[in-house]
Amino acid sequence: MIAARTLFPGGVNSPVRAYRAVGGEPPVLVRGEGPHVWDDAGHRYIDYVGAFGPLVLGHAPAEVVAAITEAAEAGGPFGVTGPGEVRLAEIIASRMPSIERIRFVNSGTEAAMSALRVARAATGRDLIVKFEGGYHGHADSLLVEAGSGAMTLSIPGSAGVARSVAEQTLVATYNDLDSVDAVLRAHSGKIAAVIVEPIAANMGVVPPARGFLEGLRDLTASAGALLIFDEVITGFRVGPGGAQELFGVRPDLTVLGKIIGGGLPVGAYGGRAELMDLVAPAGPVYQAGTLSGHPLVMAAGVATLRALTPELYAGVERQAARLESGLRVEGASVARVGSLLTLFFRGQAPRNFREAKSSDTDAFARFFHKMLDSGVVLPPSQFEAWFVSAAHDASVIDATLEAASR
Ligand SMILES: *Cc1c(COP(=O)(O)O)cnc(C)c1O
Repeated sequence: MIAARTLFPGGVNSPVRAYRAVGGEPPVLVRGEGPHVWDDAGHRYIDYVGAFGPLVLGHAPAEVVAAITEAAEAGGPFGVTGPGEVRLAEIIASRMPSIERIRFVNSGTEAAMSALRVARAATGRDLIVKFEGGYHGHADSLLVEAGSGAMTLSIPGSAGVARSVAEQTLVATYNDLDSVDAVLRAHSGKIAAVIVEPIAANMGVVPPARGFLEGLRDLTASAGALLIFDEVITGFRVGPGGAQELFGVRPDLTVLGKIIGGGLPVGAYGGRAELMDLVAPAGPVYQAGTLSGHPLVMAAGVATLRALTPELYAGVERQAARLESGLRVEGASVARVGSLLTLFFRGQAPRNFREAKSSDTDAFARFFHKMLDSGVVLPPSQFEAWFVSAAHDASVIDATLEAASR
């Protein structure tokens, strides 16, 4: 879109949308229904972007559209806590028992930033640890060696972040407990929290090695630091209780977003009551939001989570597994957990960011454009996860594999 280029930096309102990692012009997409999207010329595509995670039910699911419409007609927001917030919080807490209290915000970025503030207040410590290639939104202290969009643009960290802020963040290697142990020992008594994507999904999908999350739980507990799971992607995606249920590891704080807003802007952070009671007005950690807990967002989230039954997860798992096995070819590898998947252009699926970066990104770019020409929209970077939705049925997976084999 020519006008977009003059109106927005790089023509976009979020960097990865600019297709810099694959080249060429993004299509102008104007409609979505189920697993499909349509461009302004009426061409239909199969969509694996899924709005980068939220659209677990596909585009415009009837129950979510109805819920949003009903909420819009009811007016608001009203400037006081409403029933929609309570309903969504009850569903989340019932499926993620580590969350006794929760605070809704408007983006995953805000949620991660606020969870760190709570961790610092709870421990009286300043330093945090993240993982190379882990992405937790664009808050200053988390734009250190960030993956995803920042990585695609080859800007580890970002201009405009004060050195004094970046210095508060230490970086460890994903799936490498020794690197975590080393950081915790080197800064003993000073680390407030370790924040991790329990299934890394912003360097392409990189599942945790056996024992990695359990090891993080033990190491943080003995260092007196909090363990924060960023489940913005994995929450309600890899199963009813997120990655923490799938792997049986209970974090101190959890960061959520994407799916819980049913496609509308959202974030949330939560955890044990005594930690969350540090947040204002219950406690001294200030955090606020004019549109937090917006009735439209809460309604969309409730409708989405209600639709996510065990049967639905089982069905998506079946189709995603078929996609995975159909994509396996010589010289490439597929990493998958549930409906999260990446086709890596390297012989073996990576275990960390350094290995992920050694993928053949030129080959990915060529594949991406051939797929687009064949009517399949993939996330426009080797380092973004593909999102299979509940609307991707057997015929959609078959059509995808046919395009891929060509
Ligand atoms: C998308 C994402 C975020 C940031 O969420 P926004 O709503 O884009 O601010 C944080 N953490 C992870 C793991 C994400 O994938």
